[in-house]
Formats: sequence, C-alpha cells, structure tokens
Amino acid sequence: MLFVLSAPSGAGKTTIARNMLRQFPSLRFSVSATTREKRPGEEEHKDYYFLSREEFDRRIAQDGLVEWEEIYGNLYGTLRAEVEHALSAGSHMLLDIDVKGALSVKKRYGDAAVLIFIRPPGLDVLRGRLEARGTDSGDVIDRRIERAAWELDQAPSFDHVVLNDDLYRAVQEVADIIETRIRK
Ligand code: ADP
Ligand code: 5GP
Repeated sequence: MLFVLSAPSGAGKTTIARNMLRQFPSLRFSVSATTREKRPGEEEHKDYYFLSREEFDRRIAQDGLVEWEEIYGNLYGTLRAEVEHALSAGSHMLLDIDVKGALSVKKRYGDAAVLIFIRPPGLDVLRGRLEARGTDSGDVIDRRIERAAWELDQAPSFDHVVLNDDLYRAVQEVADIIETRIRK
C-alpha cells in the first residue's frame, strides 16, 4: 500500500510522518526529489534527493518520476524507482507530497493508494506554525498560505481527513488508519 500524507504546508504532515515511521518499522519513506535548497538539519537521500534543475529535467525526460509538481518555484517529484521497488518487494510506503501530487498518485495506483489529508484548524493557525517553524521567509510563508486555501478545498477528494489541532490525537488517528489498512 502507498499511504499518502498531504496537507497545506505547515499543517503538520512531516511531524506526523516521522511519528508513523517510528511506530511502523515496516513502513518505508518515499524520498522525493527536489530542486529546493537543503534546510539546516536535512540530509541528502534521507529527507530528499536534492537535484539541480538540469538533473531533475533529465529524470522527467527519462520517465523516472511517478508525478512531479512545481511548488513555490521549485520542482518536487516522487521517484518511480522508490515506489516501484517497494511495491514489488511487498513493502508499505509513506509519501509526504503535495495535494496535487497525491491526486496523481491515486489516479495511477487506485486502491493501492490511501490518501490522508491533514487539515489544520485554520489559516491563521497555519501561518503561526510556519512562523514558529522559522524555516521560511515572510514572502515564502505568504505564498504557502495563498496556496493553502485551494488545497483545503481538495480535502473531499481524499480517502481520509484528519484534523491536526491536537497533535497527539492526530497522530493516533493516522496510526489507526494505517494499522487498519495494513491488517486487511
Ligand atoms: P508540514 O510538513 O505540513 O509543512 P510540519 O510538520 O513541519 O508541517 O509542522 C509545521 C510546524 O507546526 C512545526 O514546527 C511543528 O512542530 C508544528 N506543529 C505540528 N503539529 C502541531 C500541532 N498539532 N499543534 C501545534 N504545532 C504543531
Ligand atoms: P517542503 O519544501 O516544505 O519540504 O515541501 C513543500 C511541499 O512539497 C510539501 O507540501 C511537500 O509535501 C511537497 N512535496 C514533497 N515531495 C513531493 C513530491 O515528490 N511530489 C509532490 N507533488 N510534492 C512533494
């Protein structure tokens, strides 16, 4: 199964994803490719494959990406090798990708993809979390909030919607969804 966590930036999906990887040792994280700069503390091949624009374009041309999107001026994409290797080995995967990317994965993999939307309590809270995270400039935060309104409208297309007001409860809810699907 492909468990896809999506949400507007700042809603908490990275925090929840890390938690799921700790709780479910059999779950593998799909490391995406991106052209964005590495943030302090991020590791190559663990958080992302950090590629140049040329290298990313080459992957697109070689059909090496399951889906890709331009987000806030950078390219992000799911590597075909990551996903197909895991699926052929019978492993479950966790993807942390944007809303459009999630819908593309669903189109391609159908019932094998479980889409989980992480909903923030509101746009003000979202802005507050992005500011508190301290990894983005004011400009970038503005762009993330602008995109969030459209992303929130896509929630009904997801298999599950989890409100992340209380982190502990949200983590538990996502864990229950994964547990139930893995056991089926
Ligand atoms: P995303 O990956 O969706 O962009 P993050 O997981 O980086 O979001 O979370 C954004 C910020 O909000 C982080 O600093 C995180 O610690 C914080 N955060 C996540 N969930 C909650 C919550 N329920 N309540 C308060 N802060 C939260
Ligand atoms: P960030 O720059 O905060 O790491 O990520 C920005 C956005 O890109 C997030 O919504 C994240 O989920 C999304 N993202 C990360 N990897 C991929 C990917 O492979 N494909 C798509 N479509 N979005 C991705």
